[in-house]
Amino acid sequence: MSEEISEKNKIDVIVVGAGPAGVSAAITIARGGKKVVLVERGSFAGSKNMYGGVIYSHAAKEIFPNFEDNAPIERFVASHNYVLLSENSSTIISYENYEQEKNAFVAIRAKWDKWCVEEAMKEGVYYAPETLVKELILKDGKVVGITTDIEDYYADIVIIADGVNSLLAKQLRLRENIKPKNVALGVKEVIKLPAEIINNRFGLTNEKGAAYELVGGPLEGLFGLGFIYTNKDSVSIGLGVSLEDLKNKKIKPYELLEKLKSHPAIAKFIEDGELLEYSAHLIPEGGYNCIPKLYTDGAMIVGDAAMLVNNVHFEGTNFAMISGKFAGETALEALENNDFSSNMLCLYKKKLTNSFILKDLKTYKDVISVLSSRTDSFLNYYPSKVNEFFGIFTTADGQEKRAKFVKFTKDFFRKRSLAELFKDAIAGIKLVFGILK
Ligand SMILES: Cc1cc2nc3c(=O)[nH]c(=O)nc-3n(C[C@H](O)[C@H](O)[C@H](O)COP(=O)(O)OP(=O)(O)OC[C@H]3O[C@@H](n4cnc5c(N)ncnc54)[C@H](O)[C@@H]3O)c2cc1C
Repeated sequence: MSEEISEKNKIDVIVVGAGPAGVSAAITIARGGKKVVLVERGSFAGSKNMYGGVIYSHAAKEIFPNFEDNAPIERFVASHNYVLLSENSSTIISYENYEQEKNAFVAIRAKWDKWCVEEAMKEGVYYAPETLVKELILKDGKVVGITTDIEDYYADIVIIADGVNSLLAKQLRLRENIKPKNVALGVKEVIKLPAEIINNRFGLTNEKGAAYELVGGPLEGLFGLGFIYTNKDSVSIGLGVSLEDLKNKKIKPYELLEKLKSHPAIAKFIEDGELLEYSAHLIPEGGYNCIPKLYTDGAMIVGDAAMLVNNVHFEGTNFAMISGKFAGETALEALENNDFSSNMLCLYKKKLTNSFILKDLKTYKDVISVLSSRTDSFLNYYPSKVNEFFGIFTTADGQEKRAKFVKFTKDFFRKRSLAELFKDAIAGIKLVFGILK
């Protein structure tokens, strides 16, 4: 840590965790002219972090307005694809918007997080890597500092940005231990391939990229999705599946990933690639109903630590960055007013409530529980039926079409009783009306 801090061991704000949430909070505070230290346990920012790969540009722009000029962007996502898999076939819905090709981009956390911290340091953030925060220091029930593996440090405000398993939020009893039904386990491989081959296989030109979300097939009706994202000269492939489902069905995620990789619709993308890395990480899945109290005297919780993730739209990093920015702005107001109590820090919650983050999480609050109660239907049976339908539609083999469609329809109702279909319809209506409410 810098000499200035170690002399007094007291600074305006301490931010714990140099992920997207922490760095955004820290840079906001430094821009406001206050002293802030960003504490990270990893040897460099991003060294301990993993995610799928796509970041929405709006959030990156809000924190780093000129990020497109020099940030380590792998590729902008020009093509969004949704792949419905069955055992031997696939149906792809592909979306491209030629006026909005920079709406989202793929980045590798080890490079992106490191770049973000370097930018933050340029703007005056003190950065303390390889520093493990063991616990918060409390005085008269208020958070006043941190105990690290090096020594104790004090601040008027501590921002907790330590990720999905936030031990610090648990210490404050703002969060309980994670329940398996409220998290997904993500596993991912990065596979090296020459840029030219990636462009050929994914139908891309120049530095444009593609995102593929994978439904059904090898995922065996589990509550989860797979993904493929194109980097510059590698491809990220992985999946995120409910931890509860994996536990109950005793399925090993890396075996599932192997099955996904060997599906003909997927194998063709990664053939002859060289495995660069394998990683695993938890994803908050509980949504609105699992958000803890977001502040207490002297502290605020941001990003994954606050369970701010919208899994339906793959939004985690952007929520982390914007929640970090709100916490940073709140800290500046609190320092201005010399008031670090809950009464002041509740401004952070107000900012979140008035923003797309809590509005969207509220809109989607029942989606996970509704979908998880009908997982086999929505993530297995219907995708397989869509493929079967197109199988009939695209086959001319001298057999009468009508007989095939009659058989398809009979099979459809034999395997899904009216009661099951009714439950699916109710779930569908709940989803639509829940979202429209
Ligand atoms: C498989 C997978 C796929 C995903 N795909 C996407 C995607 O495509 N797009 C998207 O937007 N989001 C995605 N996400 C979610 C996204 O990664 C998170 O929402 C986001 O990283 C949250 O940022 P954060 O700063 O809150 O936490 P993190 O990124 O987890 O950062 C927390 C930081 O705190 C540090 N830390 C933790 N404890 C301590 C301690 N005690 N002392 C010091 N430092 C500590 C950690 O080392 C880490 O650097 C995905 C996640 C997973 C797992």
